[in-house]
Amino acid sequence: MFNLETDIAILGTGPAALLCALEAERRGRSVAVVGPVRPGGFVPTYGLFHDQVVGTPLAPAVSGHWDGVDVHTDEGTVALERAYVRLDSTSAAALLWGQLAARVVDAFATGVDLQTDRYVVHTRAGQTIQAHRVIDATGHQPVAVERVPARRVQLALGATLEARHGLDRPLLMDFRGEDEVPTFLYALPLDADRVFVEETTLISEHPPPSAELESRLRARLARMGWTGPLLVNERCRIPMDAGLPDFGVVPGFGAAGGLVHPATGYQLAAALNLAGPFVAALDATWDQSAEDAAQAMWTAIWPTSARRAHALQTWGARFVADLGRSDQAAFLSSFLALPRRHVDAYLGPQASVGSVAGTMLRAFAALPFHLQRSVTRRALTRPTPLVRPLLGLQEAT
Ligand SMILES: Cc1cc2nc3c(=O)[nH]c(=O)nc-3n(C[C@H](O)[C@H](O)[C@H](O)COP(=O)(O)OP(=O)(O)OC[C@H]3O[C@@H](n4cnc5c(N)ncnc54)[C@H](O)[C@@H]3O)c2cc1C
Repeated sequence: MFNLETDIAILGTGPAALLCALEAERRGRSVAVVGPVRPGGFVPTYGLFHDQVVGTPLAPAVSGHWDGVDVHTDEGTVALERAYVRLDSTSAAALLWGQLAARVVDAFATGVDLQTDRYVVHTRAGQTIQAHRVIDATGHQPVAVERVPARRVQLALGATLEARHGLDRPLLMDFRGEDEVPTFLYALPLDADRVFVEETTLISEHPPPSAELESRLRARLARMGWTGPLLVNERCRIPMDAGLPDFGVVPGFGAAGGLVHPATGYQLAAALNLAGPFVAALDATWDQSAEDAAQAMWTAIWPTSARRAHALQTWGARFVADLGRSDQAAFLSSFLALPRRHVDAYLGPQASVGSVAGTMLRAFAALPFHLQRSVTRRALTRPTPLVRPLLGLQEAT
């Protein structure tokens, strides 16, 4: 009968889990990582802004670097002059695994019990792991963290295209198109003859099915004259407007901890930023009850201001999701034309409520009149989800 005892059991084998494992081992704790081990590294082709990775454990995995990114809409092109990088998913995973001494239990966790003074993790293979603390980092459908299901999702279909693309920096979004439920192209150069291309929904309640994404992607590439072998290798469905998870006795991290940005679907910057404070809270509460430790860990990643900011961003994302194609494009153009510090603050991880509210006000002022009217109508029809976080009357979404 397999029965392992450890200081900390970390569920999941994605970047969030491994970043926490690294932090915990640095603090001298024994760690068991519980989850399926994938030989080829992480699945997604990660991109993020350069300043978000500098000085973090994943900095050595940067494999592409550009001075900025472009966004095309029918209204024109916005150049965001903020350095952007691509991570090599294989070396990112190898980097993290290579620094870990953790026991690895290569199995899916099925549940976690809290028994008086310790957690017991159960796996699909019938193993049990006893631990003083547990972290759930099992991604978008967590094992032990409760979340309400999202209504709106981001759907994407990613592929590697072998073609001379001529792209000298990433396309964060090519939003040009005609479909009423819009999708955009994200394109990240891999080298002169290969480019990662992804047809993506912004955030949508009724996204086009995956087959439709693929045909849109192929049609778009043909229009652009990018022809060559296309290998579809990423399908992603990110729940976007579920609000924050229930802050229960098993603390969650990464996507499981609600760290996915409600407007962009990005998460890695938040995980890199917050693994330290999250595990520091675990360490500081080592001798306290599991319930108190869990609350301290949740608070480390979700202080009140960040919870309120998240509620506002979720409100904004739902508003944009429900717009038609041309209004989404107009909204994007107005938003991205705001001064850089406002855009960065809004799109970055864990923004404060003040900076998010400030950016939203500026964005409102910059919108065309008919969109200002839509925002006002929505805010007046259902004021609670907007007013409560603004006034600090409700912490979570
Ligand atoms: C295709 C795709 C592309 C993305 N691109 C970006 C990007 O470019 N930049 C960015 O910032 N964000 C991106 N994201 C969003 C987000 O950063 C990623 O989803 C990120 O991988 C989340 O990290 P995570 O470790 O929390 O979860 P995941 O990476 O999803 O890892 C979860 C881990 O838990 C394991 N697991 C699942 N169930 C169990 C179980 N029952 N027991 C044990 N283990 C389990 C999984 O096997 C996996 O190893 C992308 C997401 C997707 C899906």
